[in-house]
Amino acid sequence: MNTSTSQALFEKAQQFIPGGVNSPVRAFRAVGGTPIFIKSAKGPYVYDEDGNEYIELINSWGPMILGHAHELIQKAVSDAIQHSFSFGAPTRREVEVAELIVEMVPSIEKVRMVNSGTEATMSAIRVARGFTGRDKIIKFEGCYHGHGDSFLIAAGSGAATFGTPDSPGVTKGVANDTLTAPFNDLDAVRQLIDSNKNKVAALILEPVVGNMGCVLPAEGFLEGLRKICDEEGIVLILDEVMTGFRLAKGGAQERFGIKPDLTTLGKIIGGGMPVGAYGGRADIMNWVSPAGPVYQAGTLSGNPIATAAGLTMLNYLNDHPGVYTQLEESGKRLADGFKASLQKLSLNYTLNQIGSMYTLFFTNQQVTDFPSAKSSDLVLFGKYFHAMLNKGIYLGPSQFESMFLSTALTDKHLDMVIQANEESLKEVLNL
Ligand code: PMP
Repeated sequence: MNTSTSQALFEKAQQFIPGGVNSPVRAFRAVGGTPIFIKSAKGPYVYDEDGNEYIELINSWGPMILGHAHELIQKAVSDAIQHSFSFGAPTRREVEVAELIVEMVPSIEKVRMVNSGTEATMSAIRVARGFTGRDKIIKFEGCYHGHGDSFLIAAGSGAATFGTPDSPGVTKGVANDTLTAPFNDLDAVRQLIDSNKNKVAALILEPVVGNMGCVLPAEGFLEGLRKICDEEGIVLILDEVMTGFRLAKGGAQERFGIKPDLTTLGKIIGGGMPVGAYGGRADIMNWVSPAGPVYQAGTLSGNPIATAAGLTMLNYLNDHPGVYTQLEESGKRLADGFKASLQKLSLNYTLNQIGSMYTLFFTNQQVTDFPSAKSSDLVLFGKYFHAMLNKGIYLGPSQFESMFLSTALTDKHLDMVIQANEESLKEVLNL
């Protein structure tokens, strides 16, 4: 496969951009080699600068639920740009999108739009702190909530990939206010709260983790957290930046029947445009300025182009329940195919999958938390990643990421992925 244009671009990029990329995991450091530079994408495919075609399993890290460049979203955006790009003033579509989010996610009574998942989580914990008058938060090891200082403690995703789960530059004071527990460990959470009585403002988690690879909540875990938060007056925040509108219309909280106090949402709402949002109980959200004293603002928040894309995307998801049936079926088809290959090749690797999210972990251990995710053979993953890429399958370039399916992937594409997976496993293991 010729990737010379990508290579030349990456060389140049490194002169002008730290590490040559604007977000670390894109640099392919975890898997070696040169990142491919994307030129365009349509439906289930992405195309690089050298003209290679790949089946897309990253989908912009989640938001492209309907595949790339969906006609309806394209039209909404091109209509919107006729009326300028930003006003920094209220618009009709912001009201419509807020109303729709409140309809689709029942725990959300009021919602504030921001520009990224990072902003959403940073703002959500500020409100929780204001509301409770407490300082500390609890997060889980290997969960990633964007790059806000408070979250770069035992963080997943790129931070895990690069071995910097605790980033330099985060002050000791901030770090001291973030308590961490192993995912799926209710006892550890109870102990943390007991030794920090009346000090914990919020407990935040990805209800299904995407950022240490795909990791599911154990039975009773989410319910247990809800109960603890109720007993202790702690704000339960579900970070559904990846799972919102994906694992069900109302996100993982609908799927698992759990009602958080606050929810953070991200890129999916913008259909791929830079958007985030946080929302939840009205009595908590009424603490947000100018309704209340907790300050949070943004010139580009509720941007007219992003809301045009988002409104179209969410309306489509709301009106087409078939999207979720298809995502479930596609996830199952892929998982069944992968499992059959593993069995055929007598391999014991762990496949975690739920709906349209999955990770194949190169470990024989059950992956239920960060230590078990880290038991994976990362060198082998790197080889597998490149074997898949050479067969035209574009995966997340780290073991600690989830893949995301879209409705643009037909059975034909899924079967190609299943076949490429089997061939790649044989190749990297010399079977
Ligand atoms: N929360 C979660 C669960 C995420 O997966 C991410 C990013 N992938 C974020 C927050 C941060 O979002 P953003 O990259 O848009 O700032």
